[in-house]
Amino acid sequence: MRSVIDAIGNTPLIRLKRASEETGCEILGKAEFMNPGQSVKDRAGLFIIRDAEKRGLLRPGGVIVEGTAGNTGIGLTVVAKALGYRTVIVIPDTQSQEKKDALRLLGAELIEVPAVPYKNPNNYVKVSGRLAEQLAKSEPNGAIWANQFDNVANREGHIRTTAAEIWQQTGGKVDGFVSAVGTGGTLAGVAIGLKAKSPAVKIAIADPLGAALYSYYTSGELKAEGSSITEGIGQGRITANLEDFTPDFSYQIPDEEALPIVFGLIQEEGICVGGSTGINIAGAIRLARQLGPGHTIVTVLADFGTRYQSKLFNPDFLRSKSLPVPDWMETEPSISV
Ligand code: PMP
Repeated sequence: MRSVIDAIGNTPLIRLKRASEETGCEILGKAEFMNPGQSVKDRAGLFIIRDAEKRGLLRPGGVIVEGTAGNTGIGLTVVAKALGYRTVIVIPDTQSQEKKDALRLLGAELIEVPAVPYKNPNNYVKVSGRLAEQLAKSEPNGAIWANQFDNVANREGHIRTTAAEIWQQTGGKVDGFVSAVGTGGTLAGVAIGLKAKSPAVKIAIADPLGAALYSYYTSGELKAEGSSITEGIGQGRITANLEDFTPDFSYQIPDEEALPIVFGLIQEEGICVGGSTGINIAGAIRLARQLGPGHTIVTVLADFGTRYQSKLFNPDFLRSKSLPVPDWMETEPSISV
């Protein structure tokens, strides 16, 4: 490998034992936490930067600006460092401390802003867009806005890599794909890529509470209710990455259904992931039940769990959200020396 960039993608497809046994299907998770930035968003980071280079928008030492829940910022920064660019990352202050620490450690310039809805001009995405415009004028080597939500280089990365890898790793034996949506790059990109190989592949969206897409795809209305402690997912609009895409099935997954799956994976299968992966696997289980036993369903293990130690894996935080705390999380060590 010539650089860390070559370590992005080609992630393993891991059989999820409990989910498979419970449904009689093969439920497989694409281990995106094994990317160098420990999430699925390294792929978007790489494709967005390569696309900007091809368009002649990036000069050596140039700045990449982005608004992100954290993982895209990490992916962009890993790639930027390897290629000689800088990143300025705007993040809502509600996102986990671990992701903010990782961004600072990697050398991103981090700007925390209050979390406000998309329609508010001070929303992190809009702040990042304005900042990019400003820096394009003042930075000696220029600046670009990555714009992951509406930049389709994001989903192109999933058409060209994630979908192609899933097809190759399953030998074309894949009946369904499910994931949650942040930008929609993963879901729409993998859907387009797999359907081009076989139109029979069923695609499902797993939407957390607080997102508007379940309502959109089932009733045509963008309406959100409730909330979720998951990060990086939960969309309220049709992004450019979601255009020309309709899922075959839509599921709305409450945290109470998703989080026990995450806790079980860590305790029973040695797979350490964040909350969005719980939504993804809950969606895969629902699709498995819908299609019946004997099918192969793929989903995404979106990021590594230690990124949420202070929240999802913190009993006090779970209690503050009125979510059940698993016993093992509060058990004292049984061996003393
Ligand atoms: N899970 C996590 C943890 C993420 O950070 C993201 C990206 N924001 C997603 C899932 C959703 O991916 P996408 O943006 O491709 O829809």
